[in-house]
Amino acid sequence: VTIIRIARIFDGERLHPEGGVVIIEDGRIVNVRPPDRAEPIDGTLLPGLIDCHVHLSADAGVGALDRVPQATEEELGDTIETSLRRHREAGVTTVRDLGDLRGVALHHGVIGSGAPLTTPGGHCWYLGGAVSGEREIRREVRRRVTDGAKVIKIMAGGGVFTPGSDPAGTQFTDEELKAAVDEAHAHGLPITAHAHAAGAIRQSLKAGVDGIEHATFADDALADALAEAGTTVCPTLGSDPAIPVPPEFLALAERAGLTQAALQQGVARLSRAGVKIVAGSDAGLGPAKPHGILPRTLEEYVLSGLTATEALRAATASAAEACNVRKGRVRPGYDADLLIVEGDPTVDITALHRIRGTHVAALN
Ligand SMILES: [Zn+2]
Repeated sequence: VTIIRIARIFDGERLHPEGGVVIIEDGRIVNVRPPDRAEPIDGTLLPGLIDCHVHLSADAGVGALDRVPQATEEELGDTIETSLRRHREAGVTTVRDLGDLRGVALHHGVIGSGAPLTTPGGHCWYLGGAVSGEREIRREVRRRVTDGAKVIKIMAGGGVFTPGSDPAGTQFTDEELKAAVDEAHAHGLPITAHAHAAGAIRQSLKAGVDGIEHATFADDALADALAEAGTTVCPTLGSDPAIPVPPEFLALAERAGLTQAALQQGVARLSRAGVKIVAGSDAGLGPAKPHGILPRTLEEYVLSGLTATEALRAATASAAEACNVRKGRVRPGYDADLLIVEGDPTVDITALHRIRGTHVAALN
């Protein structure tokens, strides 16, 4: 039994400024009691952070995702373990991998999608997830279920860094997208769609996806519709300003309108409409997106207009719901993946950089 007396608790939803006593047994929180007379640790206890959008097999170097298919199985395994360690060091105790090479990250016990479903030559086709036609789509969804995927990822729109793929366009027909959604749901799995542009977001929403990744250019009407449908949106902000990005990559992103200002305006619009936001960084993708960048993602959400409490909720209680795990809350019955930081992150989100300790039931 572990007993933690702590000055403040953020329980995944809100702050308890009076703190309390958290009792842990066999990796599980068994009780949370009001403060007693013993001296508490000076800090805030909160659930371990959850990053809902990472690429563990990508090493965050230049062109990291494109290089994944050239790596050997052993190299990919090393990269995945290193990536997981970086997340852990940053207070991220759970990640959801939304795109690897043919399911390699799933062998490391993480929640993941395997290779994203895409069209032949479409966004990230080189990860091995190219499909066409409803039959093949359904078959590939079933294959991922067998491989142990806990979520299906589909590239509804194009991407910036795949030559020939158009981030402003859609990739699948309405019927194909619907087939993917139906097959995922038939096997009890959620499905999330990559979409930057309004057209791809609208198509995904109509097909009934559970989540949308990025959703950068949702207009007000679309944001309202997403809120109404209860669709979870993962806006993948967060980059390390100290790491220079090669100018050709910046130019590609800018040509697609994906500037930092546009990304932040997108989050502001979603937040105003009341869309359920979950935190994700797209860690691994390239030099400014190292693994463990999630605290910076949350800072950028706050710069975009979320309160610090809303940003924390996106990385704890809401993220856990999206990942379907019994984590993300300081409450009896939940996994004891816990973090203690200096100060109060509901007042100053940068407190997440000052970790005093972690208690992790199990990293996955
Ligand atoms: Zn991604």
